[in-house]
Amino acid sequence: MTKLFGTNGIRGVVNEDMNCELALGIGKAWGTYLKKTVIRPKVAIGTDARLSNHMLKNAISAGLLSTGCDVIDVGLVPTPALQYAVKEKDFDSGVVITASHNPPQFNGIKGVASDGTEFSKDVEEDIEKIYFEKNYLLAEWKGVGKLSTWDDAVDFYIDGILSNVDVDLRKERQYHIVLDCGNGAGCVATPILLEKLGCKITELYCELDGTFPGHNSEPVPENLGDLIQKVTEVGADLGAAQDGDADRAIFIDENGTYIWGDKTLALAAKYITKEKKGGTTITPVTTSSCFDDVVTENDAEVIHTMVGSPFVARTMIEKNAVFGGEENGGLIFPEMQYCRDSAMAIAKIMEIMARENKALSELIKEIPIYEVHKTKMPCPNDKKEMAMKELAEQTKDDRDVIKVDETDGVKLYVENGWVLMRPSGTEPIFRIYSESKSKDRSEELALKYKRLAEEIINSQ
Ligand code: MG
Repeated sequence: MTKLFGTNGIRGVVNEDMNCELALGIGKAWGTYLKKTVIRPKVAIGTDARLSNHMLKNAISAGLLSTGCDVIDVGLVPTPALQYAVKEKDFDSGVVITASHNPPQFNGIKGVASDGTEFSKDVEEDIEKIYFEKNYLLAEWKGVGKLSTWDDAVDFYIDGILSNVDVDLRKERQYHIVLDCGNGAGCVATPILLEKLGCKITELYCELDGTFPGHNSEPVPENLGDLIQKVTEVGADLGAAQDGDADRAIFIDENGTYIWGDKTLALAAKYITKEKKGGTTITPVTTSSCFDDVVTENDAEVIHTMVGSPFVARTMIEKNAVFGGEENGGLIFPEMQYCRDSAMAIAKIMEIMARENKALSELIKEIPIYEVHKTKMPCPNDKKEMAMKELAEQTKDDRDVIKVDETDGVKLYVENGWVLMRPSGTEPIFRIYSESKSKDRSEELALKYKRLAEEIINSQ
């Protein structure tokens, strides 16, 4: 297990656990790792809008240069813009300095592989090992890397999206959209994209500001009050909010209703599998069954992966999937790239609205409604593995259980619903999620299997 890299790269509070020494060391370790397979690696580096972006970018760049990697600074960009550049251009790796939706005092380092996907756990483990052992392979004096800049990453990204959506269709419709970039990295790309799509735009917090004066950058309902109000105030067709590094998007319908990410994910899956007349879709085991329902209706297939966008993206590549994503607003469109892409999601949702000639609220009404129940229970870290094994073992012959899925935790499919028991990667707890069309049923499911998990944990 990695110590520094979490589910979304390395994160920490600036000048406390996220400091120049760490960034420099990670840069050297990263470069050492790349040099094992590439003689002269080319690494693209970009940042979000945080105040500490230059400090960390320069430290990690110095580390990379010292090992003989060439570093190309692409400036302040949305995370998917950097990933797109790495995938399309001749880069061997990419670095994003971002802490996504975390508060402004945080920052982070995220790794991108040469195909534009997020680093896999194996790569992160290798880099960490080099870092902790300080096993750096520094270049001799004439072999150190060169630093250059490339200013076209944002335009290149916007052009990529425009070539993957139906621009003419959108220009006909001229949707009025309220865009809330939350003062994050989306500010440099999304307004330009929407203008090129012929939208009428009402901007909200579309000025870059690493202190995030508009609101916290996680696009949850409590942070989007202004957006919700603005949509109805100006009579817009929709509202869209991006998180701090603009890989995730959340939508507001024309009535000012906040649309949860599971609904948007299912909506995109529904129309993409309809258009493609089937295909394979990929989403984590935690995703609502509304996704499975709409996809199977179109004779398409769903594969459930472990939780985390790198797992979704890699499985999409492996299975040649037509669509994939997560419930947090992270939608992945393979025709563009294998990573979460909020600007692409905004363009695609409007494309669906235009093609179906329906308001966003009408489209969302077509998505089945499920009741979710979430709870948790204490479980010492050293008992987690045993508890999972026992849970799977003891439920396998349970008359109520139709199928046991051990992809990530233990997921039990039962009559009218499912329950998932997953140990937390960081805390000494088990999380229990259950879902059914009835609220009582999902609560009953969660409680029943929580009791079983408690018995197992306490009996050992
Ligand atoms: Mg993000």
